[in-house]
Amino acid sequence: MIGILDLQGGVLEHLDHLQRLGIPARRVKVATELKGLKGLILPGGESTCLRRLLAMEKMDDAIRAAAKRGLKLWGTCAGAILLADEIVGETGILKLMEITVERNAYGSQLDSFNCLVSIAELAPEPLPLVFIRAPVIVRTGKSVRTLLEVKGKIAAAESDAALVTTFHPELSPTLAFHAYFAHKCGVRPTTKTMALAPDWSMTSWTRLAKV
Ligand code: GLN
Repeated sequence: MIGILDLQGGVLEHLDHLQRLGIPARRVKVATELKGLKGLILPGGESTCLRRLLAMEKMDDAIRAAAKRGLKLWGTCAGAILLADEIVGETGILKLMEITVERNAYGSQLDSFNCLVSIAELAPEPLPLVFIRAPVIVRTGKSVRTLLEVKGKIAAAESDAALVTTFHPELSPTLAFHAYFAHKCGVRPTTKTMALAPDWSMTSWTRLAKV
């Protein structure tokens, strides 16, 4: 079972992608809901807001404790900011990965962009990715390896315990990262693994609104 931290941000879109791969998933609002999970996705949103909500709900300590017990973590965009051990100009939040991130480093909202990338380890076909006021990974420590650079900047990286992507695979048909994370967690997709969802639309997650 993979959880999606459900305090703020793009939760249902991740749930939709996991369901398309047949990966058991649930929303996680409180610490007790971390029990039994193999992995946790920290979604994109606004890291300032997520920082406050994590502290208010005491989820920061609970996630750190679960990570110590072996829970794998994947941060997308703001989620990557939560995991970084250093944030340029701010104090770190969960500090669970040896990276430094710089917020909004591609520019303002108007500089948000889509692109197609090839990552041989993940899929043979090019994958569409969405960057929304994305951070940049400006330093990786010894325990971290770079998976992808976009516009000359590190956009995806992983350690044994965590994956970070500064973009949003959940906002495009790209399923390859969700399949990759499930594999990292030791959770097997029940449907045939697909890199791209054939029938995806910008609003397909709305069918999950009542989950
Ligand atoms: N700019 C946001 C932040 O710094 C992240 C944006 C996102 O998650 N798409 O928190």
